[in-house]
Amino acid sequence: MLRISIPLQQKAFQVSGTCRVVIIGGGFSGASLARQLALHGGLASGDIVVFEPRETLGAGVAYDTADPALRLNVAANRMRALPEDPAAFIDWLGKSGRLKADPDAARGDSIYARRQDFASFMREVMQPLLDEEKVVHIRERVEHVKRHGGLWLVQGQSSTVYLADIVVIATSHPAPRAPAPLALALNGHPRFITDPSRPGALDPIMPDDRVFVAGAGLTALDIVASRIARGHAGTTTIFSRSGLLPREQDTANPAPFGDFTTSPAVTARMLLRQVRACLASANEAGLPWQSVFDALRQQGQAIWRNLPLNEQKRFLRHLRRRFETHRYRMPPQNAEVMQKELATGRLRLRAGRICRVERIAHRLQLDLILKPEGIVERCSFDWVIAATGPDHASVLKSQPWLSELERNGFVIADRHGVGIACDEASRAVDPDGKVVENLFVAGPLARGLFGELTGVPEIAQQTKAIAESIGAQGARSVVGRFLG
Ligand SMILES: Cc1cc2nc3c(=O)[nH]c(=O)nc-3n(C[C@H](O)[C@H](O)[C@H](O)COP(=O)(O)OP(=O)(O)OC[C@H]3O[C@@H](n4cnc5c(N)ncnc54)[C@H](O)[C@@H]3O)c2cc1C
Repeated sequence: MLRISIPLQQKAFQVSGTCRVVIIGGGFSGASLARQLALHGGLASGDIVVFEPRETLGAGVAYDTADPALRLNVAANRMRALPEDPAAFIDWLGKSGRLKADPDAARGDSIYARRQDFASFMREVMQPLLDEEKVVHIRERVEHVKRHGGLWLVQGQSSTVYLADIVVIATSHPAPRAPAPLALALNGHPRFITDPSRPGALDPIMPDDRVFVAGAGLTALDIVASRIARGHAGTTTIFSRSGLLPREQDTANPAPFGDFTTSPAVTARMLLRQVRACLASANEAGLPWQSVFDALRQQGQAIWRNLPLNEQKRFLRHLRRRFETHRYRMPPQNAEVMQKELATGRLRLRAGRICRVERIAHRLQLDLILKPEGIVERCSFDWVIAATGPDHASVLKSQPWLSELERNGFVIADRHGVGIACDEASRAVDPDGKVVENLFVAGPLARGLFGELTGVPEIAQQTKAIAESIGAQGARSVVGRFLG
């Protein structure tokens, strides 16, 4: 193995290896890119290195779960993970026997598979590439990324150091940020769960415990589904500012309906008018409203690009929450659990503001100012969980190496504060607006520019484009030149 010493953090580090591309993060985005590069990038064996502390590639925060109650939020036929074979996942569900083993996945014309099954599918997709060493998986968390002579030095937590031509940031979902009153009063408290997606985070909750969930998105509904499947009989309060919950998927699995690109909206208000008109047409045609939001999702990138910056901001300010409750929908199985739990009174929905938090022995006491009346309700809980979703706004502060890249002028937050600024080719943009040629952003962190870039099909398309652009630069390695 090649060993050269490079000063990094004022110390000399042994370089464990060189490669063409280091991908930081091996969730769906990182794995999808690694696969595309391995298949179409024209790279040599060992030239694609993925740093990912999890055991498998392709699972990530979204699918790395052993909890059978957690299901995909979209029907299996829409998990178009492999661009060249859009039906690969649903076919695999049948062939692998997973569908037979999970009869509860079927609802109407749709299959809502378990998230762990999607992780298994991705593991099988990636395994041959790992066996052939077309992709190398380093099971370490990256701690430093440094520029060295136009190349990148990437250091993992166990001091594995790679020297690479290109770095791709694919770490997507940081932990949630708890609402300030909770964070101030409860940080460090053993009954305050700040990252419910961490494996085992919910295990200590006892069956009769009273649970307060801050946030009313899909994460909150996952918590309810997961707790109920484990026999939780205590009360759960879901609390948010708006009180809006994600809407339910339609089990008929309708095709997308609506054209938002022929005469694209140039203001947020115009877009709203178009959506309302389209919803009315769908209704007349006997189609569910979900088909309109599926069309919005499909055409989302074009719609977003047609809105000027100030209108994008207006959309995010005024329409985002309402849009998201229709766009990110709950699987029918979660909807059934919710309805049942609401009917028994074990599940309560509250909207408003948290005005006071107190720790009283093991109890956590919260004063909530409730909408719309403004009355104050005092409640006691055994557990408080932050389920406000990934804190993309603070992503550059979420890890030392990202802060380091920002400090050294290689990345900046995007203009909407939802990720990292990049250009049309997904290359990072520096504070002067210049493209950083060999630093890419894969997956949802690039959605400030692209708009719709959260779901599997859109990410698969973006990573394909990144792989093509890296492939087009040729296999010739800057590392090779540097060393040779
Ligand atoms: C709970 C949840 C459920 C979802 N369900 C669906 C769904 O049903 N259908 C759908 O289409 N989309 C779904 N999504 C959307 C999701 O954004 C995408 O599907 C996709 O999985 C995003 O993957 P990713 O690799 O970009 O991000 P992540 O899943 O966040 O993966 C990032 C990876 O980076 C790793 N990492 C972080 N820091 C470092 C570091 N310093 N060094 C090395 N590695 C690091 C993490 O360990 C992680 O594995 C869901 C999202 C979430 C959060």
